[in-house]
Amino acid sequence: MKKLWFMLVTILAIGLLTACSSEEAEGNAEESDSGKLQVVTTYSIVYDIVKNVGGDQVDIHSLAPIGSNPHEYEPLPEDVKKATDADAVFYNGLNLEAGNAWFDRLMETAGKDGEDAPVFLMSEGVEEMYLTSEGNEGEADPHAWLDIRNGIQYAENARDGLIEADPENKDVYEENAEAYIAELQELHDRAVSEYNKIPEEERVLVTSEGAFKYFSEAYGFQAEYIWEINQENQGTPEQITRIVDIINEKQITGLFVETSIDPRSMEAVSEETGVPIRGDVFTDSLAAPGEEGDTYISMMESNIETIQEGLSQ
Ligand SMILES: [Zn+2]
Repeated sequence: MKKLWFMLVTILAIGLLTACSSEEAEGNAEESDSGKLQVVTTYSIVYDIVKNVGGDQVDIHSLAPIGSNPHEYEPLPEDVKKATDADAVFYNGLNLEAGNAWFDRLMETAGKDGEDAPVFLMSEGVEEMYLTSEGNEGEADPHAWLDIRNGIQYAENARDGLIEADPENKDVYEENAEAYIAELQELHDRAVSEYNKIPEEERVLVTSEGAFKYFSEAYGFQAEYIWEINQENQGTPEQITRIVDIINEKQITGLFVETSIDPRSMEAVSEETGVPIRGDVFTDSLAAPGEEGDTYISMMESNIETIQEGLSQ
């Protein structure tokens, strides 16, 4: 019996030792990780834009996972560690990461709430648009990136932030940004000409969240929604009734649902009006790696195709 106890204790001790040493090894590996700039981004779209500008010089940890709603997020212990160790943090702003103040609280915990902290606002310089629904009046609408010209602004801000955090690689960031911005400019021009093929009176976009304000202004659409911004209390019976009335009144023939939203509210609207859901559009998240929409450029291209096809039926 004694022998058995001894064996058990030994096994446990060895197990503990192994666990400790492998953790340590992992920690060391991370630190010695080729000396790349350690970057944290708040969600997948900002991740992709910063990745395009940072290229091989950066290691990026993104917070709100792909497919999730970045308006609200509960940071994990790993996120706190990464944010604390980060050389640069990039966030959208315009109230995007404001749900339960998760981002501000994380920056405070990570010791990055000071004036000089390397925390960079991607929407710096964007012309803000405002929410209008009851209780939200006057607050900034966060979805600026759906106008590709603002995506260009984001890329410029990513470039400037990276240069500030890592001036040694200034030339690389400038070069990457220039090439990426040229691609975005071309994409914006293509979006304008593709959307212009849809007759103006048919350019009405109905989605769950009212994420298409900046988009509508840029590409000549009218945007309607069930609720104006993702937060608690979405898809209420009053909101459903309101949009059903609008759909009937405007004789809308197609609805869309966002990839990062529970589709049930829009399904209820579709059932109530008899108007079909024509496709999935990307708003607040990229697709999983390897799928259509897995980069900012790819998600915007996918939206062009889905919206154009959906509205010409
Ligand atoms: Zn949103």
